[in-house]
Amino acid sequence: MRCTHWRRVPLDLLREAQRKSAPECADSAVQCQLATHDDGEHYGLLHDVGEYGFALWLRWCGSTDVESVALPDCPAIAPGPDGEGCCLFVGHIERHTWEDTLEEISCTS
Ligand SMILES: [Zn+2]
Ligand SMILES: [Zn+2]
Repeated sequence: MRCTHWRRVPLDLLREAQRKSAPECADSAVQCQLATHDDGEHYGLLHDVGEYGFALWLRWCGSTDVESVALPDCPAIAPGPDGEGCCLFVGHIERHTWEDTLEEISCTS
């Protein structure tokens, strides 16, 4: 299960994401990409800087503490001949994204 927390992207961070990608690709609200977790910080994807191997994340904790951070991609690959890569960042808590898709029939992301 994916964490169900959403966060509105602060205007300055939204503008920053729009500068780095196409404006229509920058969402004004993001959902936490981690697997369900009880506490700690939430991470929503702002902008995937694909070719450089890192992405811009919105990190928040509570309702006031929010910031953008650039984090390297998680290097974990699902087991198997054509294993799927993890969509999260290195050092994330909880499970890799492909651990969820291995169990669920449809991927919601
Ligand atoms: Zn979360
Ligand atoms: Zn991972």
